[in-house]
Amino acid sequence: MSATVLVINSGSSSIKYQLVDPDAGTALASGLVERIGEDAGHIEHKAGSTKTERHDRVADHGDGLRQVLALFEEVGPALSEAGIVAVGHRVVQGGKEFAGPALVTDDVVATIERLAPLAPLHNPANLTGIRVGRELLPDVPHVVVFDTAFFQTLPDAAATYALDREVAEKYSVRRYGAHGTSHQYVSAKAAEVLGRDSLKQIVLHLGNGASASAVVGGKAVDTSMGLTPLEGLVMGTRTGDIDPAVVFHLKRNAGMSVDEIDDLFNKRSGLKGLTGENDLREVHRLIAEGDTGARVGLDVYTYRLRKYIGSYAAVMGGLDVLSFTAGVGENDDIVRAEAVAGLEFLGVEIDPERNAGRKKEPTVISPDGAKVTVMVIPTNEELAIARQAMSLI
Ligand code: ADP
Repeated sequence: MSATVLVINSGSSSIKYQLVDPDAGTALASGLVERIGEDAGHIEHKAGSTKTERHDRVADHGDGLRQVLALFEEVGPALSEAGIVAVGHRVVQGGKEFAGPALVTDDVVATIERLAPLAPLHNPANLTGIRVGRELLPDVPHVVVFDTAFFQTLPDAAATYALDREVAEKYSVRRYGAHGTSHQYVSAKAAEVLGRDSLKQIVLHLGNGASASAVVGGKAVDTSMGLTPLEGLVMGTRTGDIDPAVVFHLKRNAGMSVDEIDDLFNKRSGLKGLTGENDLREVHRLIAEGDTGARVGLDVYTYRLRKYIGSYAAVMGGLDVLSFTAGVGENDDIVRAEAVAGLEFLGVEIDPERNAGRKKEPTVISPDGAKVTVMVIPTNEELAIARQAMSLI
């Protein structure tokens, strides 16, 4: 029996999990607990081709994880026989303290807690998962893997805001990035597929949240998310880059509170704010129906992508590989084509036939002989977390 890792991604009202065989690179089971604390919860557990659903109340995260562990025993694969050697927890904010994965100790938990003001929506929820996980699975080591860790190598010039130094220092205001596990996995995968290490790469992680990174020889040198995941690309519901004076303007002239503006920028902006829909499939449907607002929305989205590709090529003094990943990046050939339109001068072009459709495997979509290799590389954050957990035990 090979060793397995249970990967847990605990959100404010949900828990996603996967039982991963890190050597084989496969998931033996995966699932989702949703609507924790509501009248009716929802649990979906997939093992092989069997999907089991429950709609009972899930009182809290502990109750959710307990029900999941019971499902493993009931419908399989039985955890007692699955050879679990570690539990890997995703944590969003590791601040300047964590440049890699860490074994969970009481000190590590305290540090993640201390970093919570930098990720108030995420770190407390991640911590809840760690607490109940340690309680229910006390006999295996628990490892935390941080979304920010891959970006600890950012040079000061990329990580520093042009803000009063004392204020920035006192309140830990700098660029930490996010989605690091995915950017690391995808850039390493591209190097592996191409059989070359010393590459200048751009990774575009385009899911509901979206981020870009510039990676030289396996080390991140810039990324689009900043103090929080709000900065950078246009996202499903987030603004990405915006003049900070918009905050002062709305506070002074629209009478909006800081919390209302936070909600507006994070949950009611981006594609959702521009088109009414945050899902690209719906945006394309609107455009096909002749909705001009939706067309402008998609133009804003892809224009921002081109700006980042151009600026990262400049930052790195060249570009060898451009990779698309996550829900939009892996599935949406229209976005991929529009994101690189007009970038032939940089050596970036794609072959329409190779680009067509969704990709489940790493695929080169640039023409043979192109200066820049453009790829679609499906991300696998759970596998990356499982492998990082294994590396520590
Ligand atoms: P998350 O950031 O929540 O992990 P995902 O990486 O799963 O998100 O991406 C979800 C997004 O992917 C959806 O909101 C949608 O915009 C996009 N998406 C998923 N499937 C398709 C598809 N077939 N075509 C275009 N976009 C898609």
